[in-house]
Amino acid sequence: MSADLAPPSLTVPRRPRTAAIANLGCRVNQAEMEAAARLLRAAGIQIVGDEEPAELVLVNTCTVTSVADAKSRQAVRRARRRSPEATLVVTGCAVAVDPEAFARVDPAARLVGNEAKAALLAELAALVGEAGLEASGSSRRPLPTISGVEPTASSGHDPTERTRAFVKVQDGCSFFCTYCIIPRARGPERSLPPEAVLADVRRALAAGHREVVLTGVNIGTYDGGWSERGPRGSHRRAACTLAELVRRILAETEVERIRLSSIEPQHVTDELLEVWTGIGAGRCLPHFHLPLQSGDDGVLRRMGRRYDTRFYADLVARIRRAIPGAAIHADVIVGFPTEDEEAFGRSVAFIRRLDPAGLHVFRYSVRPGTPAARMVGQVDERAKRERAEVLLRLAAEARARFAARAVGSTARVLFETREADGRWLGRSEANVLVGAASPDGRSLENAIASVVIEAVEAEAPDRVRGRIVELVPPAGPAGRRMPLPVVEPRPVDHVPAASFAGGCR
Ligand code: SF4
Repeated sequence: MSADLAPPSLTVPRRPRTAAIANLGCRVNQAEMEAAARLLRAAGIQIVGDEEPAELVLVNTCTVTSVADAKSRQAVRRARRRSPEATLVVTGCAVAVDPEAFARVDPAARLVGNEAKAALLAELAALVGEAGLEASGSSRRPLPTISGVEPTASSGHDPTERTRAFVKVQDGCSFFCTYCIIPRARGPERSLPPEAVLADVRRALAAGHREVVLTGVNIGTYDGGWSERGPRGSHRRAACTLAELVRRILAETEVERIRLSSIEPQHVTDELLEVWTGIGAGRCLPHFHLPLQSGDDGVLRRMGRRYDTRFYADLVARIRRAIPGAAIHADVIVGFPTEDEEAFGRSVAFIRRLDPAGLHVFRYSVRPGTPAARMVGQVDERAKRERAEVLLRLAAEARARFAARAVGSTARVLFETREADGRWLGRSEANVLVGAASPDGRSLENAIASVVIEAVEAEAPDRVRGRIVELVPPAGPAGRRMPLPVVEPRPVDHVPAASFAGGCR
């Protein structure tokens, strides 16, 4: 750890009355800060919006790109402007990689590296203990794993703010893709014990969450705490594989929906797919986010990725055979060093053939200290921008095509928010955004409904709208199923041609 980072015995002030949390980056950061918010609330500390002044401010940073670094520093400046007297705690990947930069931005801030984040949460847990809530068990730090590596933080969620709970099962990565700074920022892989994950899932369900998203930095490496590694980062033997973990969650809890956050292609095993099609059928959602990064084998090799395009295409075919209609989302980086026009052309052609449900497009950004930063053949910014535009158009087409295919089917939708026009918006099992009117005007927040999909939204070709035919209100798994009166199907509206003006989500 750098001398500039706070030691694990970090002390936050006792009982601030208000706290604000600014969070940047991935689902793992989100899960960690939800754990922090949960602990602070339990201690009776009011969490205010990150736009409001507070006595304690936590900023959780991200370093995935240089833009993320800049936004992280900006968040620290903004927090200090809003709360000049606050105890400002800055943590996360950008701090772990470059603490000096944050010390320059705010010399008074407490900088906490990822490896000390558990200590920060322990301090917050101590506040909970002072409030007499120790017995709840929610503040217990995770046990060391069998391999002796202690997870950086227990996972968590905010029971009141979301219909979906992000449950962290794993942290860290030691794959060292040549463009990626995350292994330095997060350290090597370590898994939470299955019992800790199960306890967190139960807490999420008890708090009313109806969907659990299993999340981590590289969740396919989940091993329950011990493993013997095989090729491509797979396991020969493990204390508990990801498939076994999901099987246990399904068997030992009343979870209604499980989704995976992104998973490396080589980790989608037959064992995992068998869980999806067997015990998990109807509860494990048909949605796989598989980072691709490039559709050119030469670029993939130089990225240090552990698969080639043939492997990826075969996997997508295998998933679609096992789970017809499954949504496949891919991440793609444009402008990686050595990606010339021919390589980019091959990548675009490959992605078209894949026919994904969506793409997340990233422009390559140099991360000092990574092998790719020193590679010859860096791509100029203009070419990166142009290639990103090509892929963003392709992404919008893909989303619109996938949404249009849902028309005429019945989807199970978890509703989340109310739109300005009064309709409710939620996500289908395959992650398509679905809008519908409440049948009797009641709130649909956190309700799961069967929706007959009638048409693509004219204004947003990647969304559909439909009619609710059955509703399970948000009373948790015990919620009463309420069939609605059968209405004769109306003619399906004309599906408008996709306007390709969308962007990457
Ligand atoms: Fe980074 Fe590669 Fe690990 Fe993903 S698998 S976190 S891209 S090193």
